[in-house]
Amino acid sequence: MAENIKLEIVTPEQYVVSEDVQIVMAPGTLGEFGVLFGHTPFLTSLQIGNLHYKDNSGREQFVFVSGGFAEALPDKVTVLAESAERVEEIDYERAKAAYERAQQRLESREEDIDYNRARAALQRAVARMNIAQGGGSVH
Ligand code: ATP
Repeated sequence: MAENIKLEIVTPEQYVVSEDVQIVMAPGTLGEFGVLFGHTPFLTSLQIGNLHYKDNSGREQFVFVSGGFAEALPDKVTVLAESAERVEEIDYERAKAAYERAQQRLESREEDIDYNRARAALQRAVARMNIAQGGGSVH
């Protein structure tokens, strides 16, 4: 059997994940990528989306990541993100409220709207809702 790799997902507030896993699939800005033990080292930025991995008993686990960076080493993946939550930590109603706020902002005709900020808030909310509804695949 292949060796496990260490996965660490860190935000400015806390360690969200720190465990030995079989494989990591993450939403890179150039597309989703997978990391197994022995992978060539690389560094990439991440999109807002769904990071998933197989834990050491082979169970699939889902984590929301708000973008950030991932460093892959042959035996370790480190993710640094502004925010991240395991699927069971996602508050669906909060994400829905954030979605509605962002949607209203984008649809309003006020001139002082920061569109990039509203769009990013919308993307975070959509990704959280998708993951909370069953490990969604939107990145
Ligand atoms: P909101 O407007 O609801 O704060 P947001 O996308 O602006 O949403 P972030 O800036 O990504 O929020 O995160 C701020 C903090 O709140 C982080 O600690 C993040 O983990 C947490 N958080 C945000 N939304 C949720 C959610 N729906 N469920 C659980 N935790 C959340």
